[in-house]
Amino acid sequence: MADNTNPIWVIADQESCSLLPVTSQLVGKARSLADALGADVEVVLLGDGVEAQAPTLFGSGADRVYLGNAPELANYHPDVYTELIVGLAEACKPQIVLLGSTSMGRELAPLVAARLETGLTAHCIDLDINADHVMEQIIPAYGGEITIVCPERKPQMATVAQGVFPLPAHDEGRSGEIVPISGPFTHKGRIEILEVVIEEPKGIPLDSATCVLAGGVGAGDSDGWDLMAQLSKELGAGLGCTRPVVDEGWAELETMIGQSGKMVSPETYLGIGLSGEQQHMVGISGAKTMIAINNDKKSPIFSQVDFGVVDDCREFLLVLLEKIREYREKQVSC
Ligand SMILES: Cc1cc2nc3c(=O)[nH]c(=O)nc-3n(C[C@H](O)[C@H](O)[C@H](O)COP(=O)(O)OP(=O)(O)OC[C@H]3O[C@@H](n4cnc5c(N)ncnc54)[C@H](O)[C@@H]3O)c2cc1C
Repeated sequence: MADNTNPIWVIADQESCSLLPVTSQLVGKARSLADALGADVEVVLLGDGVEAQAPTLFGSGADRVYLGNAPELANYHPDVYTELIVGLAEACKPQIVLLGSTSMGRELAPLVAARLETGLTAHCIDLDINADHVMEQIIPAYGGEITIVCPERKPQMATVAQGVFPLPAHDEGRSGEIVPISGPFTHKGRIEILEVVIEEPKGIPLDSATCVLAGGVGAGDSDGWDLMAQLSKELGAGLGCTRPVVDEGWAELETMIGQSGKMVSPETYLGIGLSGEQQHMVGISGAKTMIAINNDKKSPIFSQVDFGVVDDCREFLLVLLEKIREYREKQVSC
C-alpha cells in the first residue's frame, strides 16, 4: 500500500496545446492537499508541443511534471493514455490521482482506476484530508452531501468539474523538475482516431456568461424549449439546462448545469421550469442574483432563489418575449 507522503497526481487536460483551466484549478487544490500531507504535487502532461505549459503548472503549485511530448500523443487516445498513466502510476505509486470531469477525464479516469484496481469518485464538489491522512471526496447526494473515502486501495481517485475550485494565484518564482516520459506511444489498434472535430460553441458560452438562463423539463416539449432559447437570445444570456432536458433531446449534454455538468458563476441566474434539485443547484452556487419561474408555488426552487414567479412558464415566456420585443421596437423608433 502507498505511503501517505507519496505524491499527489493531476492528469493534465489540454486542447490544442493549451491547458484547460480545470488542470490549474486541480493543481492548486492538489497543492493544499499535499501540504497537509507533506507530499509532492506531480502532473502528467501528455501531448505534442506541450512542454511550454510546464512553467504554468509549476507556478500553480506542481513540483514535478512527467512530460510525454510526441506527435503520437497530440490527440487524446484512451488506450495510449491509459497504458502510459497506468505504467507510470505502478512505478511512482501516487497516493491520489485527480482528473477533470471533462470529456477526456470522464473516460480516462475509470479506465485507469479499473486497471489499477482502485476506487473512483466522479464529479466531486470538494476534497479534503482527514485525520487518518485519507482523502475525503465530497459529492452531493440524498438532499445533502456525502463523503466518500477509499482507505484500502491506492491511489485514491476523483474527478472534479471545471470551476469547482478557484484558479490558484500564479507564483512566477516557483519552478520544478521535468521528467520526460519515453515511448513507444503505440496502441494495440482497438481504437483508431480518424479525425478530431472541435465543435464551435453555440450561443454565449456558459462559462463566461454574465446572465445564465437554465431551463428545466417544465418547458414541456421542444416548442416550449424554443421559447427558452428565444428568451436567452433576447437577454444575451447563456442557455443551460437540467438533465431531463438532455434526456428529452432538447439540448446538448455540454449545456447541462450541475454536479455532472458545468459549474457557472453568473451575475444573474434565471431558473425556468425546474425544481431546484441539489445536483443541478451545486452548478450555480456562484450566482449573485437568482430568479425562478415555476407553476408550483411549493417547488423547492423558490426557497433557493432571491425572486420567484409562480406561473406556467410557457404562458409567462410568451408574454415576456412580446414585452421585450415591444420595448426594443420603442427604443429603436425613439
Ligand atoms: C448522480 C447524479 C448526478 C446528476 N447530475 C445532474 C446535473 O449535473 N445537472 C442536473 O440538472 N441534474 C442532474 N441530476 C438529476 C437531478 O437529480 C434532477 O433529476 C434534475 O436536475 C431535475 O431536473 P428538472 O428540475 O428539469 O426536472 P423536475 O425535477 O422534474 O422539475 C420540473 C419542474 O418544472 C415545473 N414545471 C412543470 N411544468 C411547468 C410549467 N408549465 N411551467 C412552469 N414550471 C413547470 C415543476 O413544478 C417542477 O418543479 C443528477 C442526478 C444524479 C443521481
